[in-house]
Amino acid sequence: MREWVSMNYLDHAATTPIRESAADAWANHSQIVGNPSSIHGAGREARRIVEDSRETIAEILGVHPTDVIFTSGGTEANNMAILGMARAQREDNPNRNQILVSPVEHHSVLDAAYWLVNDGFSVLDLVVRSDGSVDYDSTTDLVDRHHSSLALGSCMWVNNEIGTITDIPSIGDLFGSRSIPFHCDAIQAGSLLVHGSRCPGSFSISAHKVGGPMGIGALILPRGTKLTPISFGGGQEKKLRSGTIPVALVAGFAQALVEARTQAEVEYSRITHLATRLRQILLDVGAQVVPNHGDTGPQIPFAMGVDAKDCELRSGFGATGGTQLHNCGKVTEESGSFWEKKEHGSHHSSITYALFEGCRGQDLVQLLDAQGIFVSTGAACTAGIPQPSHVLLALGYTEVQALTGLRFSLGWPTTDEDLDALADGLPKALTQARTL
Ligand code: PLP
Repeated sequence: MREWVSMNYLDHAATTPIRESAADAWANHSQIVGNPSSIHGAGREARRIVEDSRETIAEILGVHPTDVIFTSGGTEANNMAILGMARAQREDNPNRNQILVSPVEHHSVLDAAYWLVNDGFSVLDLVVRSDGSVDYDSTTDLVDRHHSSLALGSCMWVNNEIGTITDIPSIGDLFGSRSIPFHCDAIQAGSLLVHGSRCPGSFSISAHKVGGPMGIGALILPRGTKLTPISFGGGQEKKLRSGTIPVALVAGFAQALVEARTQAEVEYSRITHLATRLRQILLDVGAQVVPNHGDTGPQIPFAMGVDAKDCELRSGFGATGGTQLHNCGKVTEESGSFWEKKEHGSHHSSITYALFEGCRGQDLVQLLDAQGIFVSTGAACTAGIPQPSHVLLALGYTEVQALTGLRFSLGWPTTDEDLDALADGLPKALTQARTL
């Protein structure tokens, strides 16, 4: 039996266990002999596996196979996009020296953007609403005001700490319609992609967030998008990302996406139910769920057969034959729909963030850990000192409030038993944490 089966693991946004078929695909190719760049038979066989996998990944993500650039994971893909796309723009036009990013991005985007300040770029913040979604109208204003100097815009799809979904199809189109390169960190949006949602512009994905192996991901770079490489060597991946391609990891990555797509409907119903239950467990102990939409309904980012009154409908939601809804109408678990009513953005049901007054999140993580329940603060911890989440600070919470937060994230293997353990263990952990 796999180790995680006996754990109450509620930290799938950090990493989710590898799916059985992805582990098999990885294992079956782990003893491959050839280097995919070699021209002999062994190399050609390795190359065939890589290219077959690339085609599978591209088909599932709705992109062209030549757009898929394999990387070591999400961090590298984001670094390449931010540094490489911005620099390529400025090489073409020295006036393009500004980057627009949202302040709630993952550090692999934020720190890369601010690194470019050393190169003479300046970074402008996109405006984030109180629920953590990026505001469309003020983004339009910013883009129009700085149009001639913008090298790049970047915005994440699903926030990894609080689960807010920004309307990336609209934000991406906004940049695209003005010919400004756009990148999206889609690393927590694997479930949207396997359901057929499409990301405009360049985007990054990471295998270990969708049930694939660690150490592999991809930057999706639409043909014609300019990118200056940030590493150098053998010139693999169209000279954009040098380094021997890890054949077995690539095969495991492709298989994880295949299984994620096959299981999408089943996982949707399970996670809908679990998210609703999790929220209730947290409300029952007096936690403040963030962002607080004042609604106990399910918050799942996919749509099927929804009464879409007051919603903007987008066609082509793809694989499931459903329709993608944006900023859309009230739905319930029973109605079989996946979006929750939101004034601004929507919310991904896999990630729930909550504040626990009078406790430190870090203490709660340890007290729950002692009971075999694994959650996270969602925020960085430097040298053992917990740091308040930059996401919560950007939403206007104080440092003290931000340090009381915990992230609970659900994934493909989560069951009711995991939540039973949380419901049993959380009150005791809270009582203890409040005495520390
Ligand atoms: N971006 C987001 C939104 C993430 O959640 C993560 C990982 O937690 C990353 C980027 C980095 O991905 P990786 O762990 O594959 O480097």
